[in-house]
Amino acid sequence: MNQHSRFNLPLCLVVEEDIFTRTDEAVKRYLPEIEGKKALIITEKFLHDLYGDIVTEIQADYNNAEVFEVVHADFDEAVSIAKKICIDDIKVVIGFGGGRILDVAKYASYVSKAVYICLPTNLSNDSLASPFAVLGTEGGMRKTLACKIPTAILVDTTMIQKAPQIQTLGGIGDTIGKYTAVYDWALAAQACGKPVDDFAHSIAWMCYDSIAHFDEKNVTSISFLRTLARALVMGGLAMEIAGSSRPCSGSEHLFCHALEEYYPEIKISHGLAVALGTVGAANFQGRDDLKMLEVCRSYGLDLNPASYGIDKELFANIWMRAASTRPDRVTILNNTELNREWLDEIYERMANN
Ligand SMILES: [Zn+2]
Repeated sequence: MNQHSRFNLPLCLVVEEDIFTRTDEAVKRYLPEIEGKKALIITEKFLHDLYGDIVTEIQADYNNAEVFEVVHADFDEAVSIAKKICIDDIKVVIGFGGGRILDVAKYASYVSKAVYICLPTNLSNDSLASPFAVLGTEGGMRKTLACKIPTAILVDTTMIQKAPQIQTLGGIGDTIGKYTAVYDWALAAQACGKPVDDFAHSIAWMCYDSIAHFDEKNVTSISFLRTLARALVMGGLAMEIAGSSRPCSGSEHLFCHALEEYYPEIKISHGLAVALGTVGAANFQGRDDLKMLEVCRSYGLDLNPASYGIDKELFANIWMRAASTRPDRVTILNNTELNREWLDEIYERMANN
């Protein structure tokens, strides 16, 4: 069997203005079998209050679908929702929210074998279409769990325009991170004597290129948001094709994991932490880190670690501990002798850019 015959692609991907006011038309063309089936909308209270009209409209479009407001957004809650889906004979799960909510919806629908329709309310990272869900488990530890990519993904560019800009900047950061991720992936493949999957590799590169070389650096323009939405979705597909997160996650993500896991007091989004990690990762790889700084600056993405409460000492510590977050993951860090002077130099470049 060809290795590629194993992957799942979404049946439907729509990126349009105001698509959330007519999700049923878009989806039912591709999934006529869900007509008349019981559906569950998974969201959170904050978004339900903020976008009450849209949620009501989606409810009406899917047989008065019940709305479930996620509270903890962890593994236990995802499993208990999956149980509810099975017991109540729900066949369609609609995730309406940002990364945490969508990961819960993705995992609950995977466990319960329901059709999953993904409606992101922001473009903060590429998990929306990835075949993984990251959920909190025992003692606040986060675990990456394999699951299925959504059956349908609908991105409403009007809604994304209304989302806080910092979230869109996060999506840019996660996409920029592919510059160093694909390099680390090739390095890891070489280390174990196996080739990388060329298609997943090309797709991840294209995601990066589409954002790094986009003409109009305006994070609220519809044409930019369409491109970013597609770049994030394609990142998910690259992971699906590769059968791992490697095309989208290298040493820049290890920096992000170290920050999230060892320094939870630093409040920074996933995508922005990845963008910060990309500068160091590119530098260790002997590549052009000034380009990273320039691309981020052109979008108004601030890469000064001090802006996020990260001083020189902390910055160095995060990098020193980065490799320990995923010891089985081969990246440039395996071949790099980090030292304080070098890390301070990178910090200065980021601070003074
Ligand atoms: Zn990421």
